[in-house]
Amino acid sequence: MQFSDLGLAAELLRAVEEQGYTQPTPIQEQAIPPILLGQDVMAGAQTGTGKTAAFTLPLLQRLLPQASNSVSPARHPVRALVLAPTRELAAQVWESVRTYAQHTMLRSTCVYGGVSIDPQMKELRAGVEVLVATPGRLLDLVQQRSANLSQVQILVLDEADRMLDMGFMPDLRRIIALLPAQRQNLMFSATFPDDIKKFADQVLKSPVRIQVAARNTVAELITHSAFKVDPLRKRELLANLVRSRDMRQVLVFTSTKLSANRLARQLERDGFNCTALHSDKTQGERMQALADFKDGKVTVLVATDIAARGLDIEHLPHVINYELPPNPEDYIHRIGRTGRAGMSGEAISLVSPDEQDLLQGIEKMLKMRIPMQPLPPDAFEAPARHASQATSRRPPARPREESLPRDELPPPEELPRREALPATMSAQAALFGGNAASTTSNAKRRSQQVAALFLPPVVAKQD
Ligand code: AMP
Repeated sequence: MQFSDLGLAAELLRAVEEQGYTQPTPIQEQAIPPILLGQDVMAGAQTGTGKTAAFTLPLLQRLLPQASNSVSPARHPVRALVLAPTRELAAQVWESVRTYAQHTMLRSTCVYGGVSIDPQMKELRAGVEVLVATPGRLLDLVQQRSANLSQVQILVLDEADRMLDMGFMPDLRRIIALLPAQRQNLMFSATFPDDIKKFADQVLKSPVRIQVAARNTVAELITHSAFKVDPLRKRELLANLVRSRDMRQVLVFTSTKLSANRLARQLERDGFNCTALHSDKTQGERMQALADFKDGKVTVLVATDIAARGLDIEHLPHVINYELPPNPEDYIHRIGRTGRAGMSGEAISLVSPDEQDLLQGIEKMLKMRIPMQPLPPDAFEAPARHASQATSRRPPARPREESLPRDELPPPEELPRREALPATMSAQAALFGGNAASTTSNAKRRSQQVAALFLPPVVAKQD
């Protein structure tokens, strides 16, 4: 099937063509026709399947008859509302909306928390037909009378399971109560636990049900493997894998912010261009980290699960679970960052003896064994500093004493955050030069002494 077979308007087909897409993905093939007919849709589709275009294209088409070039805000009421759980997902959806709407007169904007509300109020007051929002900030804007939802014709709940996980149910109910009863509802969710099914029953009217991947399955193009490793040697193994396999862009998941910070610091000392991404970072730091990763200035991005959802990282080839997620479903979301849109990807898990149960839980959910790889013979050899550091635009690493300021003391355990950061990513390979041996022993000894003052004993040993 071709995009042109789906009954889409010429201005939308033009935008699709300009993206270089010729064939719709399965979710697009199945969701676009019923959405164009005005039906409710409940779709089980994980990120990477092309689900954003699957709802954005028909949504825009349904609004086309009301598109206007009038300057009057009254002619541009919010007609379609897309709710997303995180800032970065909202920003990505909005980017798709802008891309596909570029040859139409439809206006759109995106609102999320963590940034100034004033420009968002201004944009909304000028009038937009498509509003992409995270729930909390949208309610703030409604309260301040900047967002009027009384003319919404289409509601999209994107990553509905995540919104419920993040505790947005009360906000969603409040928002839905503000919408006209007569409207089209589209719900997209990677998984369908019972609470989502119940919620869908309340919100959707006789929906067309679409499932493009069986529940809790992962993209077929991802290869999974695991290494059994002592927790104290994980960092060496990770460094070895990144170096020996010449990984140029790798997303590494840890389970806590503390662990992400620590690992990023250690890898940086090992000579990798590395940065950490988690919810204790400021909005600016997070955006910078993502932009650097996207531009190839950062080879290794160490992230907590905040980065596991929604990021569209084109062609990201490697995801490494440095620590397994406590919840097996998060494995799917983590590795969903790779193997997207028909590209192959690799998911590697470093499994310590006390994580065996977690691995089994993941295998049970995936209904497959994750092959255990033998450790590389040189797995634990001291990591050579990487030559890319020499050409990096990053400033040289600070002396170790400086790099453990008081404000980097172990932060409290990661709390669920309601919203993350906006970012869209397209991968560009980092220049990854050859190895250059270096002697870091003095600095290392000093850093161990300093680290021992701040960190729990096991961490000092690990170093
Ligand atoms: P999504 O699941 O919406 O996050 O989309 C994943 C990626 O697939 C995005 O980078 C899209 O730009 C891309 N994409 C969407 N539709 C198509 C298509 N029909 N053909 C190829 N790539 C697509």
